[in-house]
Amino acid sequence: MAGARNASSLLLIFLALVGLTVVWRDLRYDFSFANDMRKAELARRTTSVTATITSTAMQTQTAMVTEVVRIPREVPASDRTSAAFVILTRNRDLDDLRETLIQLEDRFNRRYHYPYVFLNNDPFSDEFKEKIANVVTGECHFGLIPHEHWSYPDYINQTKAAEVREDMKLRKVIYGDNESYRHMCRYESGFFFRHPLMDQFKWYWRVEPGVKFGCEIDYDPFKYMETNNKKYGFTISIREVVETIPTLWNTTLDFMNKNKDMIPATNLMDFVTGKDGGYNLCHFWSNFEIGSLDFLRSKEYLAYFDHLDRAGGFFYERWGDAPVHSLGVAMLLNKNQVHWFEDIGYYHGPLWNCPKGKANAKCWCPEKESVETRNKGWSCTLDFVALPEPNV
Ligand code: GDP
Ligand code: MN
Repeated sequence: MAGARNASSLLLIFLALVGLTVVWRDLRYDFSFANDMRKAELARRTTSVTATITSTAMQTQTAMVTEVVRIPREVPASDRTSAAFVILTRNRDLDDLRETLIQLEDRFNRRYHYPYVFLNNDPFSDEFKEKIANVVTGECHFGLIPHEHWSYPDYINQTKAAEVREDMKLRKVIYGDNESYRHMCRYESGFFFRHPLMDQFKWYWRVEPGVKFGCEIDYDPFKYMETNNKKYGFTISIREVVETIPTLWNTTLDFMNKNKDMIPATNLMDFVTGKDGGYNLCHFWSNFEIGSLDFLRSKEYLAYFDHLDRAGGFFYERWGDAPVHSLGVAMLLNKNQVHWFEDIGYYHGPLWNCPKGKANAKCWCPEKESVETRNKGWSCTLDFVALPEPNV
């Protein structure tokens, strides 16, 4: 009997303990809830004070960084000049090109909507056109290159051209045995700006599949060229592989001697002339160019291109469009008309142009990778910068 009483007392104590625990938990819950409510109320009451403090803090912050932080803005169509991106490419470059264009749009063109001209010696596929048009914000023009701009002129001895390719293959000259590469170089040297789709434009920006844009471009480089009377803009300049252009320099001097009336008294020949009076191999890397189409269409540049084309070096050697454009620029323009876009972060394998110091804040490229720092002996850009300003 006593045992049963003890057992029921224990049960009562147990139930009482359980009850107390539940009550305590609820109380705690209520307490913390009330606490939260109190906090919320406190927060409500202090919001305006905090907002004032925050906005003061932001103003201070903004004042400190005004020069770096720029709010991307949409630019009205009326602010654009007559310009387009021009891209020579193949259907198989689609993936690389999309990657490049997404960067170019993100860093620049999503606010400007400049149009694109895509050029190809074969027709572009429907897939190519659709997938490109879907990643850009500018109008797209897809052009087929006329056969006469991508074939052998009748005066070229094609047997000799094939022998040259065979020889360059043995000597392991870069692209030495590549026939289509030669048509490409000749096309970029003398024809892309004469494609009917380019007729409506005054300025071009050359882009290639696979290149990268490493910095925010928060102004209009085309307008910069126009406003400052520039004719040719570059990012990277380097020295050419000498085996590809053995006679280009003398063929150029020959043109200059025969057309003295076309050559201005002040030009940029010092940029390309070595200490021995020969070609120092410096050229603007033409995979990036922002330039005047009227300059390339000028009778002087066209006469120079015709002279080179007649000499046959696009096929009997392997003249690149970069040294050809550069020698044309050097003989016909002065330093003030040529602009180094130091601030445009640009990569074409294996070289970077990457802004340094404060200007690097808008970039994701590492400034120590920039070609004038990393590949000092290969780059010509600091020599360009050091040339005296012309008195014209
Ligand atoms: P690299 O920069 O000298 O190594 O030469 P790329 O291979 O990058 O070619 C230069 C440019 O011409 C790029 O925009 C290529 O897409 C383009 N290209 C080269 N070969 C051809 C070709 O046979 N047909 C077309 N349509 N484009 C080409
Ligand atoms: Mn390339």
